[in-house]
Amino acid sequence: MNNVPTHPHWCDRQECTVTPDRPAGAHCSRPVLLRPEDREAMYLRVTLHQSTGLPVLCVEGFDQDPAKDPNPLALLALSTRQAAITVHLLRRLVRLATRDVVGPGWVRPRSGNSADQRYRS
Ligand SMILES: [Zn+2]
Repeated sequence: MNNVPTHPHWCDRQECTVTPDRPAGAHCSRPVLLRPEDREAMYLRVTLHQSTGLPVLCVEGFDQDPAKDPNPLALLALSTRQAAITVHLLRRLVRLATRDVVGPGWVRPRSGNSADQRYRS
């Protein structure tokens, strides 16, 4: 019998824990790290995992750079269906949140024109 594991095309062998000796490990994609623009947001590390079932999208939240503290404060594991719906909802919320923002720190008044921009600190 062939004990060489088959990896999904998205699996990063550096992150994967499936080996011929540990077939119960998990395939893992290369992590993507999103850094916050301000102190109210978190560092996010997003990966795709698959152990025995279907792939899940994992989102880990950190209060500081995970290179300094690798222990996440929060972890979300989303099915691909949940992730697709979340993407749609997040897009709508981002549009609502940024509708009046024209740049970092710049806000366009609702009734004004683009020449009427002002800086909000
Ligand atoms: Zn793998």
